[in-house]
Amino acid sequence: MEQLDLKQLSLRKISGVSAPKELELHALGISSVADLLEYYPYRYEDYRLRDLTEVKDGEKVTVEGKIASNPVVSRFGKNKSRMTCKVMIGSFLVTATWFNRHFLQDQIVAGREIVVTGKWEQQRMQITVSDSEFPDRGAGRKGTLQPVYTVGGKITQTWIRKTMLQALTQYGALIEEVLPYPLVQQYHLMPRKQAVAEIHHPQNTEVGQQARKRMVYEELFLFQLKLQAFRTLTRERMDGIAHEVPNRTIREFVRSLPFELTDAQKQVVTEILADLRSSSCMNRLLQGDVGSGKTVVAAIALFASVRAGYQGALMVPTEILAEQHLRSLQKLFEPHGIQVGLLTGSVTGRKRKDLLASLQMGLIDIIVGTHALIQDDVFFRQLGLVVTDEQHRFGVNQRSVLRRKGLNPDVLTMTATPIPRTLAISAFGDMDVSTISERPKGRKPIQTFWVKHSMLDRVLGFIRKEVDQGRQAYMICPLIEESEKLDVQNAIDLFVQMQQALPQHYGVGLLHGRMSAQEKEEVMQQFSRNELQVLISTTVIEVGVDVPNSTLMIVMDADRFGLSQLHQLRGRVGRGEHQSYCILTADPKSEVGQQRMQVMTETDDGFEVSRRDLELRGPGDFFGTKQSGLPEFRLADMVTDFAVLEQARDDAAKLVNDADFWTSASYVGLRRYLQQEQIFQGDLLD
Ligand code: ADP
Ligand code: MG
Repeated sequence: MEQLDLKQLSLRKISGVSAPKELELHALGISSVADLLEYYPYRYEDYRLRDLTEVKDGEKVTVEGKIASNPVVSRFGKNKSRMTCKVMIGSFLVTATWFNRHFLQDQIVAGREIVVTGKWEQQRMQITVSDSEFPDRGAGRKGTLQPVYTVGGKITQTWIRKTMLQALTQYGALIEEVLPYPLVQQYHLMPRKQAVAEIHHPQNTEVGQQARKRMVYEELFLFQLKLQAFRTLTRERMDGIAHEVPNRTIREFVRSLPFELTDAQKQVVTEILADLRSSSCMNRLLQGDVGSGKTVVAAIALFASVRAGYQGALMVPTEILAEQHLRSLQKLFEPHGIQVGLLTGSVTGRKRKDLLASLQMGLIDIIVGTHALIQDDVFFRQLGLVVTDEQHRFGVNQRSVLRRKGLNPDVLTMTATPIPRTLAISAFGDMDVSTISERPKGRKPIQTFWVKHSMLDRVLGFIRKEVDQGRQAYMICPLIEESEKLDVQNAIDLFVQMQQALPQHYGVGLLHGRMSAQEKEEVMQQFSRNELQVLISTTVIEVGVDVPNSTLMIVMDADRFGLSQLHQLRGRVGRGEHQSYCILTADPKSEVGQQRMQVMTETDDGFEVSRRDLELRGPGDFFGTKQSGLPEFRLADMVTDFAVLEQARDDAAKLVNDADFWTSASYVGLRRYLQQEQIFQGDLLD
């Protein structure tokens, strides 16, 4: 019998999911039954019954008792009310208080059993009720851990809980195992079917932990399987490009640069040239702190590829960066007669058509662009090297797609998010790692200060001092994780405020993600020409932007940012000859929050920041993997689950290096997975 593929199964098959609800689920990133079942709660509401003698003051508890008085209701305002009654709980006579729930009044009858959940106030012997239920109505939440999901739009917590239960009832039994049996057995992992059900509704904490452990292993294993398979498949192919380019040619280009390479740059250039010349595919990660000079290394690699007779592509995450790289590459390459083109989402119509034609005919040697480079209709005459900047924005799947645009071009991936080597090897296991460990000499370290919000006046004074000396400043707005819209609003508010607070003759500019690429570019141009002295921005400014005359970086509500992101932002200054400063305004309440600010003031070495960042993090930390440049998972956390990550890496590597994996019927499911993920193009052989 043909198994139902839950990944293909429409949400409408779940009873209770209407067409409009389906759309709302799509907005949450859920488009199939499988997606829904893997939409895990981020925490649980604890409805397990407690004994009041063991509860601390102020805790949220669920307790069971007998109603001991009729309810007293007082109403105020339009819809506001307060209702109280006495409840006998064990040997305590407790006052239960409900707000705005007077419609329950008729059900509160002396002598009836009741379960209440709420905050316990020991002094006043009172519970402020957030949930209540009556055992005589049948089974309820009592005694359970209830899942709490991320919801949005018209999807409510109650609705998604109900729908999830429904989906589990209808399709839970059809959830298939994905892990190879020997691994399930070896680690005593809970079967997938059971684990998914337990994650939504754990019987108890221990079983819930078992379920989580299983799914974490699965996530990390599948992730590693992709990386290791990609690595094996690209390694095996010896039909990569062997770039032929004499050392003399490279030396001449390097000599034409406006500065001498640092030893660290020379070292990585040597590693990259060796890869380019070898006939197997290069797949290399180049890490280096902000300002360590990665761009020029990429330029040398691109130059080598062009001189060997191929084309090169440089892919970056934002249009601002693409424009900036275009300008700097043009400056470097034009004297050598190398043609550089630009392809972004804003290049459209006739212009785009001409560009694509030139690219295909080989009239363009190097193309700089955004994701627009990996669209289906982009063809090269002979693509030899792909460089991607700020690697964490591109996953292995996209790199795999890009690779197929040419005859196995070499791939160099640059990242300014330095992470400890051990973690890098596991997180980016499909790549070799090169590191630029020093910055060009003579740079003055950026001085970083942490101030309270109440000192904003002095910060403004600082801006004036720098601007009056001819320098420029950035001011970055607080980050609202959930909403770009709120980020934009913050930026607009700060912009208005600064226009009033700063001298009239200052040019104050605004940059945010909702502006068109052209508007953004215009503002950036004005800022680089020093027509604007102060730039208010959301984090769109974060990566790679290079305006050497700016010496002051002010981050508002800095405690809302991850340390690696703060370090990136700080890297926007200190790029010229002048002493630069970074001012973090923040009033963090927690100890860890204060330590994080402290770290920033103590070091401006990216590797050190990253090490301390990981150290300060706890499990489930808000500033977790999200902003650290590491891949993200539903449940797993690369740092806290590091031991599992390493285990999964070894297991996956062993598997893909076994010839059996690519042919045996037992692994056809995993091969199909690799095919869906664009990693594997071969025959499934099932
Ligand atoms: P990042 O690694 O952050 O991308 P960039 O490549 O933008 O750093 O380099 C930062 C600045 O340092 C640029 O202005 C670049 O021209 C300059 N630079 C790069 N290498 C050197 C060097 N060896 N000596 C002096 N300046 C350099
Ligand atoms: Mg860069």
